[in-house]
Amino acid sequence: MTGPGGVSIVLVRGDITAQSADAIVNAANSSLLGGGGVDGAIHRRGGPEILADCRRLRASHYGKGLPTGRAVATTAGRLDARWVIHTVGPVWQRDEDRSELLASCYRESLRLAGELGARTVAFPAISTGVYGWPLEDGARVAVRAVREAAGAGGAGGVEEVRFVLFDDEAYRAFEGVVG
Ligand code: ADP
Repeated sequence: MTGPGGVSIVLVRGDITAQSADAIVNAANSSLLGGGGVDGAIHRRGGPEILADCRRLRASHYGKGLPTGRAVATTAGRLDARWVIHTVGPVWQRDEDRSELLASCYRESLRLAGELGARTVAFPAISTGVYGWPLEDGARVAVRAVREAAGAGGAGGVEEVRFVLFDDEAYRAFEGVVG
């Protein structure tokens, strides 16, 4: 179903590295030099070109790394995509509300995807793995951020935002929010 700003939200259960999309979003860490979870899987399947691009970014604009809540694009290497958009989610903290930073990851990634000319964008559930964000809240923040950005024209020509959820629990959390 088409939502605000002409953007459809689609939920898929699976491995994000097996997706075909214009842009695949990586739940990166600020070093941009790889990690576990989605990040490790993207570099493994996408091959060394992605890391080479990340190293170039570290050597130029992002000498100190990519700040939390921001997004940057590289080649997608061997993935079935044109770009990987790397964004750094916040680590979940019980005593501090960092949800604006998590929303920023989705908003900035979508804005960049729009600027690049992407029509389909695949997102993982950012911060809900190693970074410890509770799934239901992570899903709520994700869907709201995408709807708000799309409604405000912040997604350019993006037509489909696909959340790629790794397991049943994550899928159900997103399903509960999208309805
Ligand atoms: P973060 O460090 O931002 O928490 P993770 O990669 O550890 O990032 O996890 C983010 C989410 O992505 C988790 O819900 C995790 O289960 C899921 N995930 C891990 N690997 C994949 C994959 N290959 N495709 C899609 N989702 C994945």
